[in-house]
Formats: sequence, C-alpha cells, structure tokens
Amino acid sequence: MLETIYTIPINEAFEECRDDAKKGCPFCLLKKKLEENEIDLILGASMMEPDVRQKTNKLGFCGDHFGLMLKAKNRLGLALILESHLNEIRSDISGKGLSALKGKGVAACERIEELEKSCYVCTRIENSFVKMLENTVWLWEQDGDFRKKFDSQPLFCLSHFKRICETGKKELSKKKFPDLYSAAYKVTMDYLDSLCDDVSHFCKKFDYRYDDEPWGNSKDSPERAVSFLE
Ligand SMILES: [Zn+2]
Ligand SMILES: [Zn+2]
Repeated sequence: MLETIYTIPINEAFEECRDDAKKGCPFCLLKKKLEENEIDLILGASMMEPDVRQKTNKLGFCGDHFGLMLKAKNRLGLALILESHLNEIRSDISGKGLSALKGKGVAACERIEELEKSCYVCTRIENSFVKMLENTVWLWEQDGDFRKKFDSQPLFCLSHFKRICETGKKELSKKKFPDLYSAAYKVTMDYLDSLCDDVSHFCKKFDYRYDDEPWGNSKDSPERAVSFLE
C-alpha cells in the first residue's frame, strides 16, 4: 500500500530532477535528503535517547558519515556519542582479547572487523531507502502522472537503475515488470549514450585539432561519469 510519508518526497524529488536536469538521479537526491535528515537527527533529537545510544555504540559510523558529522555544527553532540562509543569499544576489545588468550586477540580483531562493516546512519538510510524504492514502484504502477514523471527523468545512475529493477521484479506481476524495466532502461541508456559522447568530446578537446570546437556539454562530463558509476 502506498505510504504518503514516502510518496510525498518521492514525487518532490522526481519533479525537481525533471525540471532541472543538473540535479541528476532522483534516487541519489532522495538518498542525500535521507542522509541530511539522519545526520541532523543523530546529532540532535535522538542523540541522548538510550536505545539509539546503544545502537551507535555497537554499530559505529562509516568514514563518510563520520566526515559529515565532523562538518556539522554540533561538536558537543558528536563528542558525547564518541565518548560512550569509545568506552564500549575499549571494553569490547580489552575484555574479549584478554579472556581469549589462546586466540591472541582474535576476538578483538573480529569485533573490529564487524565495526568496520557497520554504520548506524547507513543502516537507517538503507531501511528508509528500501521503502522509497517500493513506494516508487507502487506509484509507477498506480499513478499515470507519476509514470510521465518517471519517463522524464534526466537519468538513473547505474546503481539505482539496478535497485529499481530489482524492486520492480519483486513487487510487480510478471506481466507488468517488463514495462517498468523498459522505462527505467530507456532513461538510463539515453543518458549513458550522451555521457559516452560527452566524455569522448572532452578527450578530443585536448587535441589541438579540436581547439576551435566548442566544449558543448562535455566540460563536467568526468564528474558526471563518476557520479553515474559510483
Ligand atoms: Zn542514483
Ligand atoms: Zn555510513
């Protein structure tokens, strides 16, 4: 069933990207908004909640999200989270390491490896993002206006093209899925065709014979290619 808590931001992102191609992939835009919201929350309203603190102590944060938290203007909030996270890590790696003497610190290494793979913010974003993808598929299935918005997107990046196809395959009937796939494929391939041309043109511009040719859309094509691929 469609959930307005997700369909409102989905419609907004799809309209924003339809109206301004520079905004890029609508799913990347949705993800960026989820990320901003999560960083605000963790450094603000939910920072002192005991159950949240338990999770941040256990999961920690990835490099990207530590970076965003450092950039945000709440150094005390971050330090309070770090204080209890560091203490928990200290007790995890010292206790288990010493008690498992024959393991020569294996338990500590396991805990660190687990920590390297987990991030509180990534986990929260992924949970919401799965809902965003499902609701996008349901909107596409039920709302003709949304289908038009879907077809008018400037691009879906490679990774989100994959995610929307996987979600469509799971959520739609065998009869309906090929239509969603074709629609997403067209948006992605049209963009990939133009991106290939732009990057080739960018390379040519370093050849003196092309000095007089205009740059066209190619100037920022390496940046756009990286965000399409990453
Ligand atoms: Zn994307
Ligand atoms: Zn993360």
